Amino acid sequence: MSIASRLSEIRSSLPEGVRLVAVSKFHPAEAVSEAYAAGQRLFGESRVQEMVAKYEILPKDIEWHMIGHLQTNKVRAIAPFVSLIQSLDSARLAECIDREAARCGRTIDCLLEIHVAREQTKSGWDYDELKAFVNGGGFSALHNIRIRGVMGMATNTDDEAVVRADFERLAACKAELAPTFGEWFDTLSMGMSEDYRMAVECGSDMVRIGSSIFGAREY
Ligand SMILES: *Cc1c(COP(=O)(O)O)cnc(C)c1O
Repeated sequence: MSIASRLSEIRSSLPEGVRLVAVSKFHPAEAVSEAYAAGQRLFGESRVQEMVAKYEILPKDIEWHMIGHLQTNKVRAIAPFVSLIQSLDSARLAECIDREAARCGRTIDCLLEIHVAREQTKSGWDYDELKAFVNGGGFSALHNIRIRGVMGMATNTDDEAVVRADFERLAACKAELAPTFGEWFDTLSMGMSEDYRMAVECGSDMVRIGSSIFGAREY
């Protein structure tokens, strides 16, 4: 099946209002071009160098989302053009993005990545630490980032009850944080190739799908 037909199949399975981020990490720019030709404009990458390389050669109306763990020393390279940093997971990173955004004269949209999965390895904010930072006014001095919502990943398991509980937890975190951040806090990014249908049932309005569009990745 072509990238275009996989995309249209996925799009037709998504309710209105759910945005699709095509996760192109580890796939060549040609694959992104194919998806672009099929109308896709939101793309997710997990590595800075790869995102910058693709940004430079591909059409400028693509919206690039950073979805992988972001080191502070790499923020500068994407600050001029990134459209959404989904993987904001520490106070230090928030302060760094704010600084680099100011340097470019921009405000950068970000999602708070929250750790809910059972695996130790999955990145994201510990929710209690995040709340402490939020309640301490940690974001109020950061005028060049705009917190748009929450991102997370469910536990990698066949046990649907566990996956559902993770998604419900993320939805609850978003609801609890919403009053603090106000009207711009409108995004709940959750769901990947294997679990996006359930994520949407649990309230996701942004799914991040890679292998179901582009095929298996070769790392
Ligand atoms: C790789 C990745 C995805 C996409 O995963 P697929 O299983 O290929 O759909 C989604 N979100 C994040 C954070 C990722 O790193």
